[in-house]
Amino acid sequence: MTLPGFSLKMPGMALPRILNFISQTWLEPLNKQYLPVVNPSTGEIISELADSSFEDINRAVVHAKLAFPSWAGLSAGQRSAYLHQIANNIESRAREFAEVESQDQGKPVWLARDLDIPRAVSNFRFFAQFILDAEKEREQYDEKSFTSQVSRKPVGVVGLISPWNLPLYLLTWKIAPAIAFGNTVVAKPSELTSLTAALLAEVIQQTQLPPGVVNFVFGTGVKVGEALVKHPDVPLISFTGGTETGRRIYRESAEHFKKLSLELGGKNPTLIFSDVNLAETVTGVIRSSFLNQGEICLCGSRIYVEDGIYDAFLEGFVAQVQQLKVGDPKDPESFVGALVSEAHLQKVLSYVDIARKEGGKIHCGGARLTMPGDLAGGFFMAPTVISELPESSKCIQEEIFGPVVTVSRFSDAEEAVEKANGVRYGLSASIWSADEERAQRLAERLDVGTVWINSWLLRDLRVPFGGMKHSGLGREGGHYSRDFFTEPTTIVRKRDLGEQT
Ligand code: NAD
Repeated sequence: MTLPGFSLKMPGMALPRILNFISQTWLEPLNKQYLPVVNPSTGEIISELADSSFEDINRAVVHAKLAFPSWAGLSAGQRSAYLHQIANNIESRAREFAEVESQDQGKPVWLARDLDIPRAVSNFRFFAQFILDAEKEREQYDEKSFTSQVSRKPVGVVGLISPWNLPLYLLTWKIAPAIAFGNTVVAKPSELTSLTAALLAEVIQQTQLPPGVVNFVFGTGVKVGEALVKHPDVPLISFTGGTETGRRIYRESAEHFKKLSLELGGKNPTLIFSDVNLAETVTGVIRSSFLNQGEICLCGSRIYVEDGIYDAFLEGFVAQVQQLKVGDPKDPESFVGALVSEAHLQKVLSYVDIARKEGGKIHCGGARLTMPGDLAGGFFMAPTVISELPESSKCIQEEIFGPVVTVSRFSDAEEAVEKANGVRYGLSASIWSADEERAQRLAERLDVGTVWINSWLLRDLRVPFGGMKHSGLGREGGHYSRDFFTEPTTIVRKRDLGEQT
């Protein structure tokens, strides 16, 4: 039986099936096996996803390799036009994308509509323009008797592996620069959230990208992700996901000396000084703690408050957290939707148990929430605030990645820096203070990739993004993405006497 491509509205089949997308064609996985796709807000199986294996990855790599020379040979202007067209086609289906992202991931529809989908569009538009600007830059260094020029070429077939928390947003952050700089792609989205990737494949089909330039192989990390990492014809892997998976990918890719970008976990500190405007800070910190159910690698999950306002902050913060509406992702009033899966909900709850055993004080939340009606089987949890834990607590040291924050004290800036840097992660931080100069000085002492001052999640796509320590390896964004997705060759030319200055 030939199965049609993915469409949530597909008639005649009990459940819509998501097939692999290889060389502009929907293909069944060769083993004909499928995984269930669960809607986190109802617990219902809503679709089936190709449970692919090495053979499918290999098939995609072969097509990506065939497509590479002519795609790499297009002008920047031609590739830019394709990227703009993809952006236009996502934009024209933005509402559908937002609804599907919410159904698949559990986040509120309004959040997908306002954050995830517009950012996916910007990712394509940004790199569509970036390659045109970059083309005008001439990297040349003149010495007295010779000239050195830097010429860049795409790397080849690149493997892109993305997580479940910001599915389309993070996947397009990889696909857009990869193809803009002339590479061809085999992408492996998270098996928990592949629906908007399948919609993106539809968009790519509609955009009539040359066959083989962007391919999607769906399935698990162990079977499909690892096959991509080990494939000898894939010289570059861009991975976003957990630290332990990153460690494994680092090891596996050593065999072929692959170029790697690893965007890994975080345990980000939020430092609040006593000179802040309390009301504004509470509002900002609610967002940085609980947006997307706290399932953003950049969420501030360790809150440190200066002694002078500790009690006032905690009281005001907990009062507002208790007001947050948890519930139906379709309801525009819901601030917190469902966690991505039952297993993840249980993992997050297990940290609350640890906190209880360690003598932590649970100010609010700490438990699963059962919703009425259709949502009764959903994976909901009340936003949770915990205090009075030692710095050695697992809840302070380990990434929880859910709607759980800890609140602790500090007495001066030195202690704030020491505590902020006192974990193995180094992704991001935020500092809240009326004294911006002090905040700037502190920011430079934090061992993290990004620091926000009196803000959070503001993002200019030109700047380096990534983490240090166990939060990752490498940076992406603007020129950093160009450096990663291209290989430079230095060409040195001796000048004729007449040319010499
Ligand atoms: P994960 O590591 O379990 O999975 C990420 C992706 O890797 C998935 O597509 C998965 O199928 C695949 N994968 C799993 N095992 C693999 C293997 N052995 N080889 C190759 N691929 C494999 O992470 P997750 O649970 O999907 O995502 C949550 C994690 O991602 C959190 O730790 C979060 O902090 C991190 N994250 C980091 C950033 C960042 O920019 N630093 C952004 C978002 C999420």
